Amino acid sequence: MRNLVELDALRLTVVVDNEVDTMSSVPKELGFASQAQRLFKDLRNIDQEKSNVDENGAHCPHPGHRDDEQHVRSVAYDFMDLCCGAHGLSILVTGIKGNVEHRVLFDTGPQSAIFLENAKRLELEFEKIEVIVLSHWHIDHSGGMLAAVDKCREARQHQQKTGQVIVDLHPDRPDQRGSCLTRLPPPGQEPPQETPLIEYVAWGADPSFEGLETKGAKITKHGEAHTICEGFFGISGLIPRLTSYETGIPNHVRWSNTTRSWSSEPEIMDERYLVAKVKSKGIVVLTGCSHAGVINVCKDVQNAFAKEDELFFVVGGFHLAGATVETRIAETVKDMISINPSFMAPGHCSGWRSKLALENAMPGRVVSLGVGSDFVITEQ
Ligand SMILES: [Zn+2]
Ligand SMILES: [Zn+2]
Repeated sequence: MRNLVELDALRLTVVVDNEVDTMSSVPKELGFASQAQRLFKDLRNIDQEKSNVDENGAHCPHPGHRDDEQHVRSVAYDFMDLCCGAHGLSILVTGIKGNVEHRVLFDTGPQSAIFLENAKRLELEFEKIEVIVLSHWHIDHSGGMLAAVDKCREARQHQQKTGQVIVDLHPDRPDQRGSCLTRLPPPGQEPPQETPLIEYVAWGADPSFEGLETKGAKITKHGEAHTICEGFFGISGLIPRLTSYETGIPNHVRWSNTTRSWSSEPEIMDERYLVAKVKSKGIVVLTGCSHAGVINVCKDVQNAFAKEDELFFVVGGFHLAGATVETRIAETVKDMISINPSFMAPGHCSGWRSKLALENAMPGRVVSLGVGSDFVITEQ
């Protein structure tokens, strides 16, 4: 059991997610504001020159107008300031206790361009990021990592801040991963008489340890559970597979540069989650894809970090989208009811069917993880 510091507040800023949702309401306990709501509130952010022109570059008459007699102010709002969705996940995590603050980045989305653009629109302060945590070796989580490290190094230099950004990784980096498109007989069964053409799809290779170091990262490798940032955050070790139905991705494969061949790898054993504990609220867990199964993730949180604490908020990819895993939704929902988290934000690879099923079973507890969203969980 690892001890976590009890935080006064935890802030989660969604830098990359599949979904864009700037409008749905969220329970007040999550201190939520969408990026659109924040921009509306903070009128100083609105760039009149940029927003207040029509297609011909002519200034529009209404925005920017202020009439003190009528107590009216009108401003223009630029939709180009909103973040864009992409298949992947990246969440900035800020923990606060007293006057101490620690900030880490959990995953970096599928590619540098979308990560950097959204980071710019969210005005991410890279010099304050102490650790970048990779949930698992899949490109939709590691694709923006080289750019993120580069930005951290540059921002630190600019602020004359010493030290490197730490990148917390699982040591077992695969050469490459992908999917097998050909349905093969289960292990133990004979393949058909004529050997079929077996087709694979290779996903992009994750950044290498050397590449990350060249960009300025200080790499730490962890396969075991541990805490970071003075105990503000916990990172899991291997997540035990306890449920009967959470059996990974059936057609997931791993490439070896040594044997120059693919091998079946339904379980993505390097996946880890991040946890934090907020005073009077309980445990918040961030899970990248939940390839171990989101119920196995929650069970491990309870065993490894939570003690008697309530599970307050389960956030991230629940990996319940796609024909091969959607059959697990009913059992997942049943088990989630007994785990009883206060709130859930199933994002990224969760799929609409699991969100709908969870919301129907536990009304009012599911919120969207739209890109640009900001959750501020405090003890109040
Ligand atoms: Zn993913
Ligand atoms: Zn994944």
